[in-house]
Amino acid sequence: VVTSLVERVAHRFLVAKSFIPEYAKALQDYEAHGDEKPMKALIHQVCDTILPGGGNIPSPWFNALGTAKRNALKKLVYDGESILKLLDPTHPGYERNPNWRSYVVMQLQAWAKRLRTLEIASEAEDEERVLHRDGFTITPMPGVSKAETDAALEALAEAAGKIRSRFPEVLYGMVYFSTHLGAKTAAHYVGADDTVHLSVRARKRFSDVYTIIHEFGHRYDAKFFKDATLRKEFWSLSTRKEFEKVVFHAALRKQVAEEALAMVKARQNGTKMPTLSNEAMLWFSSSPVTGIDIRKETSAYLAGKLTDEAFITQAMGHKDVEIQTDKLLHGPLAVTPYGATKPTENFAEAFAHHVLGMSMPREFEDLFAKL
Ligand SMILES: [Zn+2]
Repeated sequence: VVTSLVERVAHRFLVAKSFIPEYAKALQDYEAHGDEKPMKALIHQVCDTILPGGGNIPSPWFNALGTAKRNALKKLVYDGESILKLLDPTHPGYERNPNWRSYVVMQLQAWAKRLRTLEIASEAEDEERVLHRDGFTITPMPGVSKAETDAALEALAEAAGKIRSRFPEVLYGMVYFSTHLGAKTAAHYVGADDTVHLSVRARKRFSDVYTIIHEFGHRYDAKFFKDATLRKEFWSLSTRKEFEKVVFHAALRKQVAEEALAMVKARQNGTKMPTLSNEAMLWFSSSPVTGIDIRKETSAYLAGKLTDEAFITQAMGHKDVEIQTDKLLHGPLAVTPYGATKPTENFAEAFAHHVLGMSMPREFEDLFAKL
C-alpha cells in the first residue's frame, strides 16, 4: 500500500502541469538571485523518482516502459547528476568564467525540455486504469487499449487458475500490461522489484499460459523456494556431470602391474612393445592418486635393482583406489532445451511442467512433490 502511494505521489509530481511551475520558479531563483538550492532539490527529487534509493533499483513502472523511454529516463538522471555538480557554489567555473551562471541556465533549459518526456511514464499509474483481479494489481501501460487489456487478462486468469491449487502464494502484487515486450515474449518477471510484466499480445492459448506460469515459477524460485537442501539438490541435478569410475581392486591392480612388467621386459629385450589396456593407461597416468611413479620403477628394474616380483608389488600398490575416467556417464538434467541454458530457467520450466501436469525427468517430479 505504501509503495503504491509513494508511486502515485511520484507520478503526480512528474505530471508536467504540476512540475513545470516548480521548475520555472527554481530556475528563476537561480538565474536572478544565484540561489541554487530549490533547483538542486528539484533535480534530486526527479532522480529519486526514477531511480529511488541511490539508483540501484528503478521504480516498478520503469521496467514496463520500452527501451527508448528507459534510456531517455536513465539519461535524464545521469544529466541531472552532472548539472548538480555545475550548480555547486564551490564549482571552479564560477571563478574562471563570469558567464558561468548563464551557461548553467542553458544546461538546465535543455534538461527541462527532456523532462517533459516523462509525462508518458506519469500516465502509468493513472488510478482509473488500475485494475484489481485475482489478487493482482494490474496496470495497463499508456497505449494499451481496453480490448487488449481484457484479452490479456483472460490469459492471466487462466494461468492463475492453474497455479492456484498448488502455489497460491505466488499470486499477488503488481502486474504491468505493456506493449514493448518482444513479439514472442508473453510475459516477463523482474526479480529486482518482484513484478510481473505481461505483453498485451498474451492470449488464452497454451504457449502464452505456459509462459506466464513459467514467469511465476521465477517468483517462486526467488521468494518461496527456501529449503536449502532441495535448492542444492535442484541445482546439482541441473549442473551435474558424472563420469565413469573404475575401481582398482587387488586383482585389477595385479593385472595392470603385469602389463607394465611385460612392457619393461619388451623394452629391455628390444622386442615388440605390447599395447597397454585402458585400465593400465588410467592406472599409470594417475600417480597423484595412486602414489606410484612407474618411470622410477622402470629405471630401477632396468638397472637390475628390482626383481619381477618386487616390480609388480610396487606397481600394483597396496590399497584399492577408485579413479574417474573422462567418459561422461550423464550430463546435467534439463526439463526442456531452454531449461538447459541456466538452472534458474530450468526451475521455471520445471515449475510450469509441474503446474500443468506435464511429464519431466523423475528426479524433478520427486523434488516438486516435496514442495
Ligand atoms: Zn524464464
